[in-house]
Amino acid sequence: MTKLDKPIYNRLALIGTGLIGSSIARAARARGAVRSITATARTTATRKRVAELGIADQVVETNAAAVAGADLVIVCVPVGACEAVAREIGRHLAPGVTLSDVGSVKGAVVRDMAPHLSKGVHFVPAHPVAGTEHSGPDAGFAELFVNRWCILTPSEHTDPAAVERLAAFWRALGANVESMPADHHDLVLGITSHLPHLIAYTIVGTADELSEVTRSEVLKFSAGGFRDFTRIAASDPTMWRDVFLANKEAVLEMLGRFNEDLSALTRAMRAGDGQALFDHFTRTRAIRRGIVEIGQDSAAPDFGRPHPSLPAEPLPRPYAADNE
Ligand code: NAP
Repeated sequence: MTKLDKPIYNRLALIGTGLIGSSIARAARARGAVRSITATARTTATRKRVAELGIADQVVETNAAAVAGADLVIVCVPVGACEAVAREIGRHLAPGVTLSDVGSVKGAVVRDMAPHLSKGVHFVPAHPVAGTEHSGPDAGFAELFVNRWCILTPSEHTDPAAVERLAAFWRALGANVESMPADHHDLVLGITSHLPHLIAYTIVGTADELSEVTRSEVLKFSAGGFRDFTRIAASDPTMWRDVFLANKEAVLEMLGRFNEDLSALTRAMRAGDGQALFDHFTRTRAIRRGIVEIGQDSAAPDFGRPHPSLPAEPLPRPYAADNE
């Protein structure tokens, strides 16, 4: 990764240095996007590991110490832990600092964090739509965000210059940046990421409980479609518990629609209605082919690849997605 001529921020504070936090540290350093990085994590073991990996300039023990002197603070902890972090750091944030996060749900994070922030703090929530099923500081890598979307969900009152500065930071890390309201983000990700994860968690559990199909057969014949589900279902349990609790409304809405469609297919099967099945599969095949045609194909399932024919829009563009 080539270095920028000039850093975008002076000091980056990372609260939480697992897969996402440590990838930000590695990428920000590789690109020279910040002058220095201060990191912290909840446990001594993770802080020690981050220090050993040498991916931050300093590793400190408390969240309050991490944010001291920072002009960019990114909270990289599970969504359900964001409120406690905001409560802890709120009064330590200097006026003019940009506070962001990386949570996979945005509405709940905004509701939980915003009340603890003073007026001078630029709160620009973010979600880099990039990841793997691995966790912890060793799992991170500098290229994680390259050619992936990072969605910003600032409120209409957020300073546009602060939003643009954070967008420039994410672009420096290789991401394409889009801006939309938090609740719209939650609806979109509900169908493209959260529901597929719920289905994967369900189907892998169902297979596990099937007594007439042995575990060895499940593993042996997993290439028949099951393997991709197992990769998704290996994702971090804490993170995904928090996602489903925090984005309950949107996921339940999508799940309702999914169940109706599943019932329709079940009915067609029971009735021996081959035409209905054929028509449905023809429609979904066309969707898949459309995705391949626009260059979105990937060997592994991946919900974060940007649409190559849609170049990233210049920010701020806070509510454009409302029109979609
Ligand atoms: P991770 O690898 O498990 O790292 C989580 C970090 O948060 C660790 O540093 C952990 O510290 C800390 N932490 C955990 N529980 C905490 C708590 N209750 N209070 C304070 N700190 C806590 O997780 P990750 O994959 O980086 O995910 C972090 C965030 O990124 C989540 O909000 C997730 O929704 C979002 N995200 C994840 C992905 C993905 O694919 N993984 C993609 C996009 C966004 P210790 O290690 O010391 O416990």
